[in-house]
Formats: sequence, C-alpha cells, structure tokens
Amino acid sequence: MLWEGGRRGGGVEDRRGLGGVGLAGGGIGTIVVALIGYFVFGIDPTTTQQVISQFDTGTQQEGKAGTPEDRAGRFVDIVSANINDVWAAKVRGYAPPRVVLYEQGTSTGCGFGQSAMGPFYCPNDSAVYLDLSFWREMETRLGASGADFARAYVVAHEFGHHVQNLTGVSKKVQAAQQSAGSAAQANRYSVALELQADCYAGVWAANAAAASGGKVALEAGDLEQGMVTAKAIGDDTLQKRSTGNVTPEGFTHGTSAQRVEWLKKGYQSGDPAHCDTFGNP
Ligand SMILES: [Zn+2]
Repeated sequence: MLWEGGRRGGGVEDRRGLGGVGLAGGGIGTIVVALIGYFVFGIDPTTTQQVISQFDTGTQQEGKAGTPEDRAGRFVDIVSANINDVWAAKVRGYAPPRVVLYEQGTSTGCGFGQSAMGPFYCPNDSAVYLDLSFWREMETRLGASGADFARAYVVAHEFGHHVQNLTGVSKKVQAAQQSAGSAAQANRYSVALELQADCYAGVWAANAAAASGGKVALEAGDLEQGMVTAKAIGDDTLQKRSTGNVTPEGFTHGTSAQRVEWLKKGYQSGDPAHCDTFGNP
C-alpha cells in the first residue's frame, strides 16, 4: 500500500506514553486472552458503552494534538486524513472524528477504554480509539495480516461506525435492538451494523487513490491481505478458536465469509449505497 506521500491532518490526538489510568489488574495479556473473541475489532457502539463504563475512573486524559512523527503514528494520521477526504465527498455535512492513540487504557466519552477491547469507536465523543499494540495481538494471536492495508482496513472499519453515527443508522439500530424480542434478534442487528462498517471500509479503499491523487493507494495483493484479516476476525473463526464450537445466535460481527464478502462488495462498488446489510443481507 502506498501512503507515505499522503496529506497529514487526520485529527490525531496522541496519548501514548501517558500511562493507563486506573487500569484493571491482571495485565494486558490475560485481559486480551479473556476478551479477545468478544471485543476484537471493536464491539458495536451500543454495547461498548455498557461494558467499558464498568471501568470508568472519571479521570480525563488529554494527549498531544497534531502530527505524530513515528512511523505508526504517521500511518494512522495519513490514512485517517485520506478516509476523511473520501467520506467528505460522499456524506453531506461530514465532520471528521477525533482519532485517539493510546497505550493500555484511557478515558473516553464512553467510559474507560482499554487496549484489550481492540480498536473501537465511541459515538458520545465522536472518536476512534486505537491502541497500536493491538495490531500485533491480532497478528500474532489471531492470524490477521500485518500488511499496511490490513491495518488500514481496521481503521477504516471504525470510521465506518462514525459514518453510521452521522447518518443516524447507529441510533436506529440501537432502538431496534431495544425492542428486539430476543438476544439472537438483537445480535442480528449488530451483525448488520458491523458488516456495513466492513463494506464502508471497502468503499474507502476503492476511493483512496482518487481522493489523494494516487498518493494513498492500494497495490497488487493488498485487498487479499485485507481479506486475510477479515477472515481471521469472523465470529465463527473466533468462536472456534476460543471454545471449539460455533453458536450462530451469539454472532455479533458476522462470519468470516460474510466479512470478506462485504469488504469486497464495498471495494468493488466504491459506493455506500451498495452497503445495505440490513435490507439485503
Ligand atoms: Zn465494528
């Protein structure tokens, strides 16, 4: 993936090095092992709030706004700027989210966030939260791809939740979940929301080059690397890995095949109108 020449200005707030306030004991490793199947790739915004508020410490942290100079920081900054450029052309009144880089744990508008939750989006403060060490966890423990594009897909998926927040889809899904007759029904709405975020990541990928004059662009083999990650984090694959069984009623993000399919659909169409995972799953 080409990205080094892309524009800066992705709205990054860098909290790395501040330390994790009030981090629950047990060490990051054990928490990751315990929660990875549930949290990987950010749980949907409606449940994020309930779960992380358990860890709320009430302490607000503020990092350095601007432009991180290390490679990983630059990567997130440039990719985020490009994703914003793509969505600004597609969603009327688009406003970029904040992008917060942190380590271990940090305060968020949805309560206390910690890296074991994976990357996530908080609708209350319109922010994407990323602990970059989680990428390594995904790669070593889950078999996700380490390619730049595969990581950018993770970022773009979280921006997809931001788009859903702006368009009102998240609110509608939340209301539908509250009136759902069963947990399985509520989970089906969650799956549709997550697959749409995957599709939106594909829409970004399809438009990245055009929005940057070719400076941020996929190269041969990149889409396949994104699909390796999409496959690794499907509910069926994660369940099998953690429990040995597959229980479809518990799916919240979609199967590996579905995640690959919707990433591809977004990429092939380049058009969010082709991401109707609710009416046309
Ligand atoms: Zn998600």
